[in-house]
Amino acid sequence: MPTAVVLGGGVSGLAAAYYLHRLSTKFSKIILLEHQTRLGGWLHTTRYPDGAKFEHGPRSFRPAGHSGINTIDLVEELGLSDQVLAMPMSHPTTKFRYIYVSGRCHALPSGLGGVLRTLSPFSKPWVFSLASEPFRARSSEEDESVDSFIRRRLGPEIAEYAIDPMCRGIYAGNSRELSVRSCFPPLYKCESEDGSIVRGMLWPSKGRQRPERRSKLSKRARDERWAAWSLRDGTSQLTDTLVTQLSEDPRVEVRVGSPCEAVTPTDGKLQVVTQGETIQADHVFSSLYAAALSSLLPDQLVELKAFLSSIPAVTVAVVNLEYSGHVLPAQGFGHLLPSSEDGKMLGVVYDSCAFPEHDRQDKPSTRLTVMMGGAWIRELVSEVGSDLNENALTSLAVKGVQDQLGIVDSPSRSITKVQRNCIPQYLVGHWQKLAGIHSLTEKTNLPLSYIGSSYQGASVNDCIYNAKLEVERVLSS
Ligand SMILES: Cc1cc2nc3c(=O)[nH]c(=O)nc-3n(C[C@H](O)[C@H](O)[C@H](O)COP(=O)(O)OP(=O)(O)OC[C@H]3O[C@@H](n4cnc5c(N)ncnc54)[C@H](O)[C@@H]3O)c2cc1C
Repeated sequence: MPTAVVLGGGVSGLAAAYYLHRLSTKFSKIILLEHQTRLGGWLHTTRYPDGAKFEHGPRSFRPAGHSGINTIDLVEELGLSDQVLAMPMSHPTTKFRYIYVSGRCHALPSGLGGVLRTLSPFSKPWVFSLASEPFRARSSEEDESVDSFIRRRLGPEIAEYAIDPMCRGIYAGNSRELSVRSCFPPLYKCESEDGSIVRGMLWPSKGRQRPERRSKLSKRARDERWAAWSLRDGTSQLTDTLVTQLSEDPRVEVRVGSPCEAVTPTDGKLQVVTQGETIQADHVFSSLYAAALSSLLPDQLVELKAFLSSIPAVTVAVVNLEYSGHVLPAQGFGHLLPSSEDGKMLGVVYDSCAFPEHDRQDKPSTRLTVMMGGAWIRELVSEVGSDLNENALTSLAVKGVQDQLGIVDSPSRSITKVQRNCIPQYLVGHWQKLAGIHSLTEKTNLPLSYIGSSYQGASVNDCIYNAKLEVERVLSS
């Protein structure tokens, strides 16, 4: 009875199990092991009876690119098309993104008008940097930091005030350490294949043509010019629906509260140990954070374990706040703080502006999320103590909102979560770690697949798409 074991019940593991169930009958048994009693991993929505929804992980998805379109196709396949909350390009959340510098929020340039004007804290319009970018020499390095890449191609101000905060917003990471090749592959390819970011964006080379749209929903996303989307019942609706679909297939067994304790190669198979039971797996799809997988492998795989454990991850404090009434001084996605302004405070998302449908229904309110820590966790610890006490984190977040947005009221509700090792960091040279992992796996003939956010993209779209590609590769081999 060919058995596939999926480790981890976050969106990557659930997507892998879903595609195994949908695409083939090659495995007569598909066992998913999840350590926690809750499925969904970082996709975690708290829902209140009054209709309020708070996201403790991702809050929106982008509809663009191969992986973005794939998620939309999946949403249609799962019967969730009528549950989508779409945010069009014209929405204030898309148009207005702020950075908090020298005591106030500044709108980042948006659209043609934005790049033609001088907007503080920049000393000149972006158009000058964009116009000279195609004439900058291309690098001969195989990888470099995001900061050095942007400084070289677009200048120090864009690196410091736009890209540094963006890396903090997406990866909770430091642009001086993150790899441009692994964190922003399209930018890296624009330079290496087309010689310039601007040229590559406007006239992409043949290998990077736009993906095809097949589902009705993905065509709708294009026609209505979606910039982002979520689901009516929050992001957990996606993982909850995957779980429901899986429960209808007798081949699939989803076990919660079942930590995988060891993965050992024997006779071309993998023995997976969970709660005193040993499962003989013909193939294992691991969606665990790389260092967690490393700790489950035997010592004889010393080199592989070393590569896996060399991929770090950061811890983020996520504080959801709700205020009575409409208290935001401006509409927009939110604001980010450059690391030069305040390391520990990454930014504030204006959730109510993006999806007011997730506000409580009984009276007017404003939901915000403050994110803190990440690569600057030491600064956060020195402020609130090494136990990252939730009350101290909440107070710090409330003070940040007061100082940065002038909202002086006390929040009517708050939820604080310390999300440990939640965002893997693709540091300069990450691609070499991946090459090492894959070549050792091939050399030792391990029936093991690496999916999840530790490897090739941390967005939910990337997690789902990479799980699908890996399942297809294994099924066709
Ligand atoms: C605060 C935050 C905000 C984010 N915002 C966005 C966003 O807006 N948009 C976006 O696209 N992405 C966002 N992301 C990124 C995205 O949410 C994650 O990269 C993605 O959810 C990772 O999913 P995963 O399944 O790979 O990993 P996980 O969600 O970590 O799932 C792994 C699962 O494995 C389980 N596990 C661990 N050890 C074991 C074991 N030994 N045995 C069995 N199970 C085990 C864990 O309990 C977990 O459920 C955000 C992430 C965070 C943390």
